[in-house]
Amino acid sequence: MKPWRIGLWLVFGLALGALLLLGQESATEQLINEILFRSQAYDILRELSDELGARLSTIAACERAVAFAEEHFRRAGTVNVHREPFTMLGWEAEALTAEVVEANRQLHLIAYVDTPSVETTASVVDLGEGSAEDFTRYQGQLAGKILLVGRGEAPRTLEEYLASFLAVPGIVARAKAVGAAALLLVHFQPGQTLYQTVALFGELAPLAVFGLSREDGLWLRRRLAAGKESTVRLRALNRIRGQATSYNVVAEVRGTEWPEEIVVVGAHLDSIGLGAGALDNGAGTAAVLDLASIIAQQPLRRTVRFVLFTGEEEGCVGASAYMRAHAGELDQIVAMVNMDTGAGRVIAYENTGRPDVGARLEALVEKLGPLGPKEVKPGQTWYSDHGPFVRAGVPAFFLLQETASYETYIHTAADTFDKVNPADYRAAQAVLAATVAEIANAAERFARRWSREEMAALLEATGESKNLEIFGIPIWPLN
Ligand SMILES: [Zn+2]
Repeated sequence: MKPWRIGLWLVFGLALGALLLLGQESATEQLINEILFRSQAYDILRELSDELGARLSTIAACERAVAFAEEHFRRAGTVNVHREPFTMLGWEAEALTAEVVEANRQLHLIAYVDTPSVETTASVVDLGEGSAEDFTRYQGQLAGKILLVGRGEAPRTLEEYLASFLAVPGIVARAKAVGAAALLLVHFQPGQTLYQTVALFGELAPLAVFGLSREDGLWLRRRLAAGKESTVRLRALNRIRGQATSYNVVAEVRGTEWPEEIVVVGAHLDSIGLGAGALDNGAGTAAVLDLASIIAQQPLRRTVRFVLFTGEEEGCVGASAYMRAHAGELDQIVAMVNMDTGAGRVIAYENTGRPDVGARLEALVEKLGPLGPKEVKPGQTWYSDHGPFVRAGVPAFFLLQETASYETYIHTAADTFDKVNPADYRAAQAVLAATVAEIANAAERFARRWSREEMAALLEATGESKNLEIFGIPIWPLN
């Protein structure tokens, strides 16, 4: 062959190669395509919500969910599938009745998780929003009484929503200090909606706390304002089982190039005792299970470890146990990505207060473009499973999703499968997948682990150390 011909073939070959290379999908694009066309998450979520239902940690339904997740991970072809036990307070509501004696009327209410049993007949006092001043006004008159506390109106923003949530431990402490018999917290959502959460994180509350429907709360409030005596006959039996065993479920897809470096993808498998935990957090759980089966077919350069936590609703008890059990390998975790804000589109990442994490996420926002999220928000939410990772200095963050339905329905009986919009959900899954793929395949490590001193200074600077103190959560989650 003549030399110029060899040159021609060489150029042609190179051009063809370049074309093939340019036309080839990146690993991220392949993953997104798999999600968009073949995701099973919506079906998994239906099964989790409709068949398994509410999954309060330590009760039988939660253990069934643990087995369900293990089974999915095994079928997905992931490796190292196992459950990691830890202990937490075991609690279950057994019986509850409450009636206003003078009106011969039953109240719609629910016991908060981890509150003691109570059996009493006592008059109700309206303590407004339950501030320190509200309590001072009734000094010496509250022992043995049932206290009615609630905001006048529904919170309008996420900040107000959080503020009302952060106020609870203080109200509980004040009610206990005055010797109240029980606390009725009026929920803001209309429709006789019952809302359940914990009064305190990870421990038995010092007195019985109930979520009372808005309509009944406002009716009681009007009665009291009109000067009508209102005696409530209350009987609440809760089974407290001391330290019970719960499990985190773990599975992995080993990295092809740097298997010792780990990207953790997390969501919580447990729910509150009401509804079906579809948005909180069946959506995150099903997205993680589905992502595991897709990544198992197409491993990434770093190891991806899927962790479904339990005990989240009681204050990230499972995630904290995970940190202690894995304290020796936290330096190997290059990032932890948590999905726990429902099934809506991902609108932002949260930077957790770290400029280095923020910068990497900004670059991701740019790269993912129209897929979303649109921005990186400053903030340091600590009340979901990435919290203990963040505080241990691991680069860990949260996907912030469109939360319109989330805030309305979570922790109520209405958190059911019908609230999930499949198109929005799939778009959120695509963002989760792309985020994980970009971090697991990047030439550079996502971010380094920060020291205990650096984290303490950061939490002080962002003011989050104060919020942690309210709930008695230690800044450093390791021993
Ligand atoms: Zn949640």
